[in-house]
Amino acid sequence: MDSGQVQQAFDGLHERLSRDSRDVDACLLMVACGLRLGQLHHVHAAFQKLLALDDAPQRWLAQLGEFAAQLDAGGFRPLAQSWLHEVKALASRYGCALPDPLPLPAHLATERHDPVLGRTLKRYPPFEGASYIYAIDVAGTCNLRCPSCPVGNMRDVGKPTGLMSLDVFKAIVAKIATDQPATSPIIHLFNWGEPLLHPQLADMVLAVRQRGWRSYISTTLNVARGLDALVIARPALIKVSISGDTAQTNEVTHARSRTDRVLAHLRLLSELLSLHQSDVPEQARTRVVLAFHEYKHNGECGQRLRAMAAELGFEFNSSLAVLQPVEKNIDVVMNRATPVVQQVVELMEMSPRQISALNRMRRSGQFDCESRFNMTAINFDGSVSLCCNTYSPALEIHPNFLQASHQTLEAKKYQHGFCKTCMSNGFHYSVNDQLPPVAWGQDGA
Ligand code: SF4
Ligand code: SF4
Repeated sequence: MDSGQVQQAFDGLHERLSRDSRDVDACLLMVACGLRLGQLHHVHAAFQKLLALDDAPQRWLAQLGEFAAQLDAGGFRPLAQSWLHEVKALASRYGCALPDPLPLPAHLATERHDPVLGRTLKRYPPFEGASYIYAIDVAGTCNLRCPSCPVGNMRDVGKPTGLMSLDVFKAIVAKIATDQPATSPIIHLFNWGEPLLHPQLADMVLAVRQRGWRSYISTTLNVARGLDALVIARPALIKVSISGDTAQTNEVTHARSRTDRVLAHLRLLSELLSLHQSDVPEQARTRVVLAFHEYKHNGECGQRLRAMAAELGFEFNSSLAVLQPVEKNIDVVMNRATPVVQQVVELMEMSPRQISALNRMRRSGQFDCESRFNMTAINFDGSVSLCCNTYSPALEIHPNFLQASHQTLEAKKYQHGFCKTCMSNGFHYSVNDQLPPVAWGQDGA
């Protein structure tokens, strides 16, 4: 069936279930159509009905895995988890293999009181990683000026720029080992800078690997200096972000990028990985992800970049471009965006206003933000930001990570008033937990 036919069938099923929501066959068909159309609230209601009717679960259990995956991808992680918990015993009775529910990582408390909001917030298994994450901006400077990023859109705030010394980096790593917020933290060697500008990046990767921890790099690959040493040092992940495979696309939103150079460097990276890592066990090799930022002007590039990633042995990820930092998103909602920001927002498939409205509709306010409960952001000069999504020096919470205990930093995050503003506008990094209601007549779910 093409999508028009699926939609027609969906509309018919909606009517049928409005007349009789106990119609098992209609519920089963609603699950199939709803999953095709991404109508997750209708699928949720159909599964609720099927579970309550307790009629031949083997007819629908297998689709629950797909439903949980779609819920999770839509940010409804707690709901996805509660479904997997709910049907675990039933699935085992009928021999149906479903993914195990994700546990909350052992290093996280299940909840924390927020003194500014005056209520307790729940935690969830974080999307960004199962361990605690440090975002260390080892190169607090960038050769690009992307208008969606504070390096391009907040040059007026006087944020210092520079490189972190290897000694300071090692001291920070040693302190993390002492603080030990989790046994094996993940170290991002970037936040608002281009890590490949740092001449000792490979030494930093090695310092992390020597502790048995994983390091992640995010780059645009406009520079390739030290790329061979980096591949030999073996970070766990290199993400290459791009917004097109032509100058006319990529260089609009990755401003100052040289696309021809980036494409050549992607090939070079693939060759270096073959040269230096083919003898390394697969699980210890560097994963490379080509991360495509979707805008209105670059839709045609996605398939070509996906094919290129496959050819080079890289993973591919495509996601809607978003505006950073959180301060600029709030500016858009408050009607005080600068022309640079307004122009780039025009190119986005989803504007900060739409994201804000959608998140406020989908979130009850019961859940915490993982940018603060599972991450700490350290600038090149050792100062600590409120989180990895804030840029303004005014939103820093401590001038020196080395002189602040983990508990002090956590307390400062939870006492900061800006998180309340961010959350009330729906820009925090959290989960959705409210599906729209479904009315299927008197017996409707
Ligand atoms: S998004 Fe990345 S590449 Fe672009 S200006 Fe910001 S730090 Fe540089
Ligand atoms: S609530 Fe907003 S400002 Fe606060 S930590 Fe989360 S993303 Fe950052």
